[in-house]
Amino acid sequence: MLVDPSLGVRVRGRNALPPVDLVLLSHCHEDHTAALPLFRDAPVYVHEEDLPGLVDFDGFLSIFGVEPERREEYGHFLKTTFFYEPRPDAVPFRDGDLFDLGGGVSVRVNHTPGHTRGHCVLLVEPDGVLFLGDIDLTGFGPYYGDAWSDLEAFERSLELVRGIEARHYVTGHHIGLLDDRDAFLGRLDHYVARIADRERRLLECLAEPRTMDEIVAHRFVYRPHDEGAGIAKAERNSMQLHLDRLERDGRVEREGSKYRAA
Ligand SMILES: [Zn+2]
Repeated sequence: MLVDPSLGVRVRGRNALPPVDLVLLSHCHEDHTAALPLFRDAPVYVHEEDLPGLVDFDGFLSIFGVEPERREEYGHFLKTTFFYEPRPDAVPFRDGDLFDLGGGVSVRVNHTPGHTRGHCVLLVEPDGVLFLGDIDLTGFGPYYGDAWSDLEAFERSLELVRGIEARHYVTGHHIGLLDDRDAFLGRLDHYVARIADRERRLLECLAEPRTMDEIVAHRFVYRPHDEGAGIAKAERNSMQLHLDRLERDGRVEREGSKYRAA
């Protein structure tokens, strides 16, 4: 079983791996599917809510929320840099599904939406290995900058993973393997705290009324000098989720096109 055929798998090639006869995806994002074309003969499984991203390219683009005028440019980028190929044969799984790998080894699906609608963490037993996907515990903090991202679902998912007892924790991206539950919990605390930190800085900034463009230019998720494909858009999507919540809670008010702290 291979989880998340990433760019790294693509670079190393299929011959560098043990035989693969089953591919599971933690979620449908370009960097987690880049090597999927190397495994056309293996069944691929993904949570039912991310399935549209594998079925066809339109579904894949809707995960990111690409505007019609940017579809061609961004679509080209996804195909040439991340080798996107649809897998209309992909099989959906659901929360609680169990993959029996034989020999007493199993993989249990835990649905942890927020990063994408169908993001899941996978618990491999009996060894107690929890694959966290893009609940990646980095210093950057949680990413909820796409059309299919959801801040409050992400927060609930972070509480859910805190309660999963495992002995080894594996993240996507560069943190890698943590062999210690205390190390995992420490990293998780810092990761969760990034959300409140973004929200606190946003509220401070809204002591003065600001337009969304000003909020995006200020940067609360990325650094002010971070530029590049999709960064302003991800910043905007993320801040919209915070603003929606703050407005709903009566902590932010709107004045025309501007937001200000209540
Ligand atoms: Zn992702």
